[in-house]
Amino acid sequence: MRAAILFEGGAPLSIVDVAPLPPGPKDVVVRVTATALCQTDCSVRAGKFSYGYPMIMGHEACGVVEAVGSDVTRVTPGDRVISSTAPACGVCANCRAGRPHRCELALEVRKPMRARLADGREAMGLYGLGSFAELMTVNQASVVAVRTHLPDEHLALIGCGVTTGLGAVLNRTDLKPGGSIAVIGCGAVGLSAIQGARIAGAATIIGIDPRQARRDDAARMGATAVIDPAAGDVVAAVQALTGGLGVDAALEGVGAPATTRQAYEMTRLSGSIIIVGMPAPGSKLELDAWQFFLSEKRISSSLFGSADIHRDFPRYVAFAEQGQLDLGGMVTRRLRLDEVNAGLDALEAGDVVRAVITP
Ligand SMILES: [Zn+2]
Ligand SMILES: [Zn+2]
Repeated sequence: MRAAILFEGGAPLSIVDVAPLPPGPKDVVVRVTATALCQTDCSVRAGKFSYGYPMIMGHEACGVVEAVGSDVTRVTPGDRVISSTAPACGVCANCRAGRPHRCELALEVRKPMRARLADGREAMGLYGLGSFAELMTVNQASVVAVRTHLPDEHLALIGCGVTTGLGAVLNRTDLKPGGSIAVIGCGAVGLSAIQGARIAGAATIIGIDPRQARRDDAARMGATAVIDPAAGDVVAAVQALTGGLGVDAALEGVGAPATTRQAYEMTRLSGSIIIVGMPAPGSKLELDAWQFFLSEKRISSSLFGSADIHRDFPRYVAFAEQGQLDLGGMVTRRLRLDEVNAGLDALEAGDVVRAVITP
């Protein structure tokens, strides 16, 4: 089969023929019907994060189960599935304690080699997935079966970006109907967060992004106000939109200490700040400890939308079926597998929200 392989960080992906390795007893072979390009794919390609090479790239996908190992109980051939960046086995201590996004299989599922290259080397799949390929072999804990009429290219988005944004709002804030939120960074994750806030009934939803196209997207997807950070003091603009109080919750989707500080300052007393963007390793966040103490503000992060994938994926599918969640509006480009590098370039440049590869 053909797959997009990363041989080293900083190099483009290579589209090569590989031979899939046989699935283990708990593995599932999925024929990929749609896979979206995510910022993390750009970061891994650039070598910002290294998980080993050669690597079959891609981690946001939808497909159909083609074969299952002897011990697979969760899916059967023919099932339509969405891949998950974080597995959920359902039986480990974290899964049973209500923290399935912290499933203890997380590192385990990434280890197996999934395909042999022409030179004899073996490749693993990014996050135990590797969806930039015709087939992906994954642990059964890394997929969720769904029944829906939604198109493949919409479902793929639920596998990472949509879940990260929606979940950060729905699982990590206590946003109430009538509440207020600011979202810094309106890419796919931020736009999903904005939609989550709309679904949660927030009355004030502020989208902040320097790109006009993303501010337009934000307004279309539910933002009640948008701010261009290049146009002036972002914190003052948020204060002005909230009667001087600040927002109940601020979501930081950039992963930079400067924007995290802005998120902190634009949040009302006793409000919450959720960091969703990935900061550079080693970067530091500094706060005035006395002011922080007086503020009662809560700063936390949310990984993969703090998702319970077996609860949340069907829930997000239902939101989309009911017209509450606009997935199609985020798919702004369609590609073939051999166009993957151009797609990642466009994502890096901010030209697309989501580009989706279909066979
Ligand atoms: Zn992702
Ligand atoms: Zn688990």
